[in-house]
Amino acid sequence: MSHYAHWIQRTHFLDPDEYECSACGSRFARKRAVCPECGAEMHGSEYDPSWVDEAAFLDIILGEDSKF
Ligand SMILES: [Zn+2]
Repeated sequence: MSHYAHWIQRTHFLDPDEYECSACGSRFARKRAVCPECGAEMHGSEYDPSWVDEAAFLDIILGEDSKF
């Protein structure tokens, strides 16, 4: 029996995008029709702007630097 899942797009501020399987959590550089890890059939994707958090973190670092 095949099961179904979808890709969660992980967009990073500095690193290339990744696609995370919603079923097993494995991450890959590109979307595929079937997850190579758990074999789930992929239907659609969702966008997770995780880079916003990373950019905010970078602001904190740059804010620290600007004190000197
Ligand atoms: Zn999977």
